[in-house]
Amino acid sequence: MFPPRGAGPVRQERDLIRRDRARLWHPYAPASPDLPLWEVEAADGVRLRLRGEDGSRHEVIDAMSSWWSVIHGYRHPALDAAAAAQLAKFSHVMFGGLTHAPAVELAERLAAMAPAAPGRPGLERVFLADSGSVSVEVALKLAVQYQTAGGRPRRQRFLSLRGGYHGDTFAAMGVCDPVDGMHSAFPGLLAGNVFAPRPPAAASATPETVQAWAAGVADLAAKHSAELAAIVVEPVLQGAGGMHAYPAECLALLREVADRHGLLLIFDEIATGFGRTGELFAADHAGVVPDIMCVGKALTGGYLTLAAMLCTAEVAAAVSGGQAGALLHGPTFMGNPLACALANASLGILEAGRWRDDVARIGAGLASGLAPALELEAVRDVRTLGAVGVIELHDAVDVTAVTAAAIRHGVWVRPFRNLVYTMPPYISTRADIAQVTAGMVAAVAEVHEARVLKMRVHETQVHERVPARSGSSS
Ligand code: PLP
Repeated sequence: MFPPRGAGPVRQERDLIRRDRARLWHPYAPASPDLPLWEVEAADGVRLRLRGEDGSRHEVIDAMSSWWSVIHGYRHPALDAAAAAQLAKFSHVMFGGLTHAPAVELAERLAAMAPAAPGRPGLERVFLADSGSVSVEVALKLAVQYQTAGGRPRRQRFLSLRGGYHGDTFAAMGVCDPVDGMHSAFPGLLAGNVFAPRPPAAASATPETVQAWAAGVADLAAKHSAELAAIVVEPVLQGAGGMHAYPAECLALLREVADRHGLLLIFDEIATGFGRTGELFAADHAGVVPDIMCVGKALTGGYLTLAAMLCTAEVAAAVSGGQAGALLHGPTFMGNPLACALANASLGILEAGRWRDDVARIGAGLASGLAPALELEAVRDVRTLGAVGVIELHDAVDVTAVTAAAIRHGVWVRPFRNLVYTMPPYISTRADIAQVTAGMVAAVAEVHEARVLKMRVHETQVHERVPARSGSSS
């Protein structure tokens, strides 16, 4: 090991959490000596073994699948074996001018499983990217390059949906919700894109509300068509922007609008892809094929970071024949063989087809297990889609308290805003799902119900005092 330089001696003590807090950043977190953290000591199947700051140990079910990615569970024998086999060959080579079997096999697999519809060009060409956000960057670049190559260089903006989330790099942030999507922190750096309202919620949508929404989108597209390169959406389920499920027929309406105005249609399936919503891709709920699709997260079964951008042969040919003569992106770790080998193993498990029953079983368990949350005063809504379950509160979740309460019940969740949600690994058994849902409901009840009831008592007391007070003042 190199001798430590500048930053002081490397400390050897066991207190990992304290050492972490002194050095590391965590997602969307301050550099703080008080950041709530748990150490993962082991991960196997659906379970994590956590060590708390006080030395306490907790075995929990990972109800988050490590942010949608670990769909087959931890230490899956087929994935472990695929990693070991590829390691024994080579773990990385540059992709400029070189190729290898894992990348080629992966591209063929992805093209074969991508959404398809009669009479519509399929998604045949694959760009391998390092992360979901980067694949979105590449998709946006591709769309602009496509328009430029077709003699429409003014088309540099995008139409996306309020409530959307597409990643944290700049162009991706630029198509996230303009209010919640961090735009206000970088006002000079994010392009002015066009935002349509979020589609009506699946649970309450009617043909009228869907048509009214579609008319609004069509108006916006017509008004800005000369500057728009593409429409970008998360199909059927907006994830990090609020876990908002919307009717699949909206996708067909977006397809029509895109075709009418010469826009490309980009589906961001980074969260929804690979079975999570009950179809292999969310686009499959509507039988709609986009021109460009991004996938990531579960692509390697959560073992390594890898994403992919798929596009039609027509788009690829137009960009390749354009003035630039190439798609202008090429990361150092493009097509990393180890990641591709893991993706092939993960897709191999999906190809065997069991995921469909797994997702249906988990969905049924989530629906029945989360339903009791509707009885809680703190809860505004409970909804499920595929193997995703959501408890929406009236007010912001106390993330630290709900996380700790869920851990006490043997469940790992990572709530945000007013949402406590789960997308468990597909290998979760009925009993696992019962534990996850019971833990989520109990955590919400313990932390938030007590507060709501306290507020209620307070309100009642104030209310009861009002006549006496007004009586005395008159
Ligand atoms: N798009 C969607 C729909 C996502 O949910 C995410 C991540 O949560 C991203 C893009 C960004 O992916 P990554 O975090 O791998 O950059």
